[in-house]
Amino acid sequence: MSWPRIIAHADMDAFYASAEQLDDPSLRGKPVIVGPRSRRGVVLTASYEARKFGVKSAMPAVQAAQLCPQGIFVPPRFERYQELSACIMQAFGDFSPVVEALSLDEAFIEMTGASGLFGSPQNMGQQIRQAVYEVTGGLTASVGVASTKYVAKVASDFNKPNAVTVVPPEDAIAWLDPMPVRRLWGAGPKTVPRLERIGLYTIGDVRRADSQWLRKHLGSASEHFQRLANAQDRRGVSHRRVARSMGSDRTLTQDINNAEDIRYHLRRSADRIGERLRRKGYRARGVRVKLKNHAFKSFSRQVLLARPTDHAQELFDAGVTLLDQFENNGPYRLVGMAAYDIQSANAPEQYGLNFDQRNTTEKSQALEKTVDAISEKFGNGLVTRAGNIGKSKTVSDFTPNLDFIEE
Ligand SMILES: [Mg+2]
Repeated sequence: MSWPRIIAHADMDAFYASAEQLDDPSLRGKPVIVGPRSRRGVVLTASYEARKFGVKSAMPAVQAAQLCPQGIFVPPRFERYQELSACIMQAFGDFSPVVEALSLDEAFIEMTGASGLFGSPQNMGQQIRQAVYEVTGGLTASVGVASTKYVAKVASDFNKPNAVTVVPPEDAIAWLDPMPVRRLWGAGPKTVPRLERIGLYTIGDVRRADSQWLRKHLGSASEHFQRLANAQDRRGVSHRRVARSMGSDRTLTQDINNAEDIRYHLRRSADRIGERLRRKGYRARGVRVKLKNHAFKSFSRQVLLARPTDHAQELFDAGVTLLDQFENNGPYRLVGMAAYDIQSANAPEQYGLNFDQRNTTEKSQALEKTVDAISEKFGNGLVTRAGNIGKSKTVSDFTPNLDFIEE
């Protein structure tokens, strides 16, 4: 069987932690945990040395410190990761005009028709891996090559780190069959036990299950899972760069310094950003709050969330926790918020995002979606939170009010 399509998925190995080890040789070979050591902090990335102790992304920092007492906590340097990411994405662009970034450190690369230039799928994978190593000065990536996005993504993770895994189309079903069901895109901490309870432990089990019976147990998601189990995934690689950040700043008619007013404007920014993230199919992991005082001095604080979100309420909640950290007391003339560490919502495996978690915030998210739909139809501003009524004149019409996307 020939390859109907050739898709590579490249994913950096322990990206943030490896970047820290790259820049600081004294950290190499050591258990590095990127994330704040604070009580409420979460692990963003752990080096492979720390993973041996069971430390994982999104784990509370406290738990990570218990599992790995010798772990070295390093605060994230987001700008540096962005800089490295730009080099990596540019290197991918040398292989194909169609590169779909899923996050800072991960992308699909459309390689169909590129055999003349780069040889066999195995050679393609090797060259991509090598290019990443060279442009970053020593970071490694793992690459999966297959004829669907789904299989390519599972393949890049198969032999991590620093590996190339090629799954030819005729082998894809047999290759997936023995994998645990958690490898199905979208199967998370609720779906996995549910599958296991009905006796389905492997992807092969799901593939062979009677589809009507499976539907009874899983609902509409069953078709999605059976398609994946059959190595079917028709989605193409769509060229896009993930935005660096998305923000909303408002200059006010009057300087403010009470918490309630600041929260009101933060709420508006969060709503606005959430709507734009959803519209673009993005989720953000980082939230930054910016305040500018009457002397035009800017202050900002930022935080990374345990998992990426496109949900205004979560953006707002994160923003509110940041307000306590500002030492300047105002009064402020500008309140702004930005979401950063943006990734494609097409990366459902990332940080365990899945159908289940989508359900937990179902209600308010459903509300946000409804508001999106109404705004789309009738224009913005028609739907307002009850608390916002009467405050619409607090934003200055004469000074810049910015909604921005940094690509
Ligand atoms: Mg990665």
